[in-house]
Amino acid sequence: NASRSCRAVSHFDPNSLCLPSGSNFINGARVAGIGPEIPVRRPSDGQIYAHLDSAGPAQVDAAVVGAYHAYRHSGWAQAEPRQRMRVMRRWADLLEAHLDELAVLEAVGSTRTIAEARTWDIPYSAECIRFYAEFADKVGGEVAATTPDKLGLTITEPYGVVAAVAPWNLPIVMAVWKLAPAIAAGNAVVLKPSEMTPFSIVRLAELAIQAGLPAGIFNIVQGDGRSVGDGLCRHPQVAKVTFTGSTRTGAAIMTACAETGPKPVTLELGGKSPQLVFDDCPDLDKTAAIVARAITLNAGQVCVAGSRLIVQETVAEQVMALITARFRALNPAPTWDPSSTLSPIINHPQLDRIDGIVRRTVASGATLVTGGGRAAGPQDGSYFQPTILAGLDTATEAIREEIFGPVLTVQSFHDEEEALTLANDTQFGLAAGVHTGDVARALRAVRGLEAGTVWVNRYGRSNDFMLPTGGFKRSGIGKDLGREAYLANLKVKTALVEF
Ligand code: NAD
Repeated sequence: NASRSCRAVSHFDPNSLCLPSGSNFINGARVAGIGPEIPVRRPSDGQIYAHLDSAGPAQVDAAVVGAYHAYRHSGWAQAEPRQRMRVMRRWADLLEAHLDELAVLEAVGSTRTIAEARTWDIPYSAECIRFYAEFADKVGGEVAATTPDKLGLTITEPYGVVAAVAPWNLPIVMAVWKLAPAIAAGNAVVLKPSEMTPFSIVRLAELAIQAGLPAGIFNIVQGDGRSVGDGLCRHPQVAKVTFTGSTRTGAAIMTACAETGPKPVTLELGGKSPQLVFDDCPDLDKTAAIVARAITLNAGQVCVAGSRLIVQETVAEQVMALITARFRALNPAPTWDPSSTLSPIINHPQLDRIDGIVRRTVASGATLVTGGGRAAGPQDGSYFQPTILAGLDTATEAIREEIFGPVLTVQSFHDEEEALTLANDTQFGLAAGVHTGDVARALRAVRGLEAGTVWVNRYGRSNDFMLPTGGFKRSGIGKDLGREAYLANLKVKTALVEF
């Protein structure tokens, strides 16, 4: 049914991307969904470029039942751990071998620019898979207690079927954060990507099969959250759920897991992360560049976006001017254009939402330092100008709510204590940045900030896979990445043997 997936590709870009039919991936093969069709738009120009074939409830069931069967009988969980390691390494190699194809798929269908997808999303995902491949034969149980006539052991075992629900903002990377540790640990995974960015990850599933992953260990069911996502999380054979997305959906998923389990959940949720800038920074221009990038990367549609600038009053004007210059240099071209450096907003409703928040904030008396409206991007695209709002009341929605766009609020402070108080005055606790030339101050801030990650004199991650990521407060439960994410995909069995 090639025509089904490709028929709406009427306004497509010069590269004429045409998607293979069948966007679900069950028991090792693409399967056409029998659920509702969902139009999928390119964020860069708002055009519908394909229709997603959602899974029907029977297909969600088939995916989970098949995954459970593969977990029990495919040999994946039972294999020598080194065998899992070898397959995952081959999978990573195949991602790199298909770099251009995957980067185009990702950039066309999402807010990721082709330059970022090529240089970061795809190579980073391959490295992440390799990182977890290494755990397969290095982390296990231990001897817990022994006497001459008794042996105590802990044995780590995979959960079985792990359901992963992913967001649209970094479609491949966010999925790989879930898939790599779960699969390396011997689980079978059923992934539900966002219905807004569903297609690129299916190629990863095909490459996994090519690498030697047994059919049924990595499955994909497509569709909306309320029916397909909820149905997946509630399936009785799902043993664990791992989710990345909004705080509201995270709470709904936790309820579903409580009602059908209780099942363990990992929740990576929203944020409203502060960036603290002290006047002792040795190079304010460099600091401003970091601050600007932290709120404009992927047009601010990053969970850890540094959306609240908290700056010492002595340098506030200077820092805002330096950030403004950085903002104005960004180029809102289509994601598939290599010169694009400002991503579109995912869709028009979200663009309208951001616009509304900024308008209301300015109407309430805030100062618009720069930006403040739609950016001149491609026709029908949903681009928003990187925006700075200053002089705000701390109770305004622009300071309280996750905007998920390139909007930076500015609050100034007099001393360190005030800076930390402002930074922690939020329901979220995902990440924070501290910029200072004083090591002791930096360490005090690391201890004082209520956030799962604190970056000092930088913002955002590189390939630090060993460092876990995850939020405090309403930003989530549990961790992605690091040893923690691997262990979170294993249950511990105790054995006590008497002889
Ligand atoms: P979202 O919560 O709207 O959707 C995320 C996923 O959940 C989608 O696949 C969606 O279809 C599904 N879903 C929706 N309702 C569901 C339900 N009732 N049951 C099961 N699944 C359901 O989030 P989004 O808009 O796709 O992503 C943006 C959000 O993700 C932001 O809040 C952002 O901060 C957060 N995020 C967090 C992290 C992190 O690591 N903490 C990383 C990336 C994004």
